[in-house]
Amino acid sequence: MIKDESVEKVIDESQQGTPLALQHNDKNTRKLYIESYGCQMNFSDSEIVASILANEGFNTTQLLEEADLVLVNTCSIREKAEQTVRKRLEKFNAVKKINPGMKVGVLGCMAERLKSKFLEEEKIVDMVVGPDAYKDLPNLIQEIDEGRNAVNVILSKDETYGDVAPVRLNSNGVTAFVSITRGCDNMCTFCVVPFTRGRERSRDPQSILEEVNDLWERGFKEVTLLGQNVDSYLWYGGGLKKDFEKATEMQKATSVNFAKLLEMVAEAQPKMRIRFSTSNPQDMTLDVIESMAKYDNICKYIHLPVQSGSNRILKEMNRLHTREEYFELIDNIRKIIPDCAISQDMITGFPTETEEDHQDTLSLMEYVKYDFGFMFAYSERPGTLAERKMEDDVPEETKKRRLREIIDLQQKHGHFRTREHLGKVEEVLIEGPSKKSDAHWMGRNSQNTVVVFPKENYQVGDFVNVKINECTSATLIGEAVGYSKNN
Ligand code: SF4
Repeated sequence: MIKDESVEKVIDESQQGTPLALQHNDKNTRKLYIESYGCQMNFSDSEIVASILANEGFNTTQLLEEADLVLVNTCSIREKAEQTVRKRLEKFNAVKKINPGMKVGVLGCMAERLKSKFLEEEKIVDMVVGPDAYKDLPNLIQEIDEGRNAVNVILSKDETYGDVAPVRLNSNGVTAFVSITRGCDNMCTFCVVPFTRGRERSRDPQSILEEVNDLWERGFKEVTLLGQNVDSYLWYGGGLKKDFEKATEMQKATSVNFAKLLEMVAEAQPKMRIRFSTSNPQDMTLDVIESMAKYDNICKYIHLPVQSGSNRILKEMNRLHTREEYFELIDNIRKIIPDCAISQDMITGFPTETEEDHQDTLSLMEYVKYDFGFMFAYSERPGTLAERKMEDDVPEETKKRRLREIIDLQQKHGHFRTREHLGKVEEVLIEGPSKKSDAHWMGRNSQNTVVVFPKENYQVGDFVNVKINECTSATLIGEAVGYSKNN
């Protein structure tokens, strides 16, 4: 599962902090308004969609009221995410009164989950398009232009959009996502993703390198390699991961796994920072950690969802590792990369979770002391194995109380980790102004921790050495002591 920056937050691509001028083609006469919910994969997909539609006469607009086409890239990871989408669609009814020609389309995981039912349930919706069908948008838009509804929710065996150059939306001009895989073959019992994003397939490393090189040429300084489960990246000429066994000896001999891909990207642009998300502990191998240690420009940070600290619950979740194996992985990471930051995803209140299971989760967190985490109460998802086979039997009050305890413990550990940076000089890539003060820049260190410091004469995109003087549980505060060698 890709870490979500809080599913509840709506990002209106054309509004939110867009220092980089939106790509505009004077020949294009139609206006596209697109907003995304959920995980980074959805944001990256919206950039693919904007690119496909830029070739169909659409420029992106910031004004909903003037849009010819409004697209909502939806998330289905929790019930609340879907409710947020429905509330937003309701709001469009008022806009449609002043902009009657406007057409509305839904993209992403909720579109894939509901399919044509979405049209019945939400009358304002004209078009429903699943995550693998964005190249069919030109045909689908023609159908809705002719007054018919349009639906395409076919999941693909080989679509990776590797041949589509994303239009950078909502970009700070410094950091960008580059998707490397699509889909997921791990059937975690609580997760809707395998049903909404299909089987795992990896993108051609050459097209990944082209995109990274293009980003460097355009002044970007950091890329995040993106996938539901990046560790199981495996290129052997195209096709599904699960069919690798049927590949020829030559294909197997020349295949590229995630550790190899990381090294290829790091060597292609030695001054560019490389991050990746998201890993699954059962698929992460030592060679990935060794590749991270080998290259300065691969950031020392791993997002490593665990979901529970109880072996019994991990089994119920179909997470194919034990807490002991997870500890071993953490120990290896800390041995090979001593200053590596680690973050988590945690689900509390999974069906049948006892107080003892909850205590196992707290003791696992005590062992790892994560830098930060994304913690949610279990939300039953239609169609998942947990929904079909298990009763959602942990009372809401208990879920809330356990979630509170996990969040409080994470806050304490977060502060323990940020205090480790006090007095150190850290290399920071400036991403933009601090949310709290216009006189300060914000950026992140290699460990993905936010660092805030006075602006002086430094600029967005600079690599600056910052001496850390203070910290909160999530932020480091310091002063610049000069440009880094990577600037
Ligand atoms: S099935 Fe498991 S590994 Fe795959 S996206 Fe969902 S939580 Fe992540």
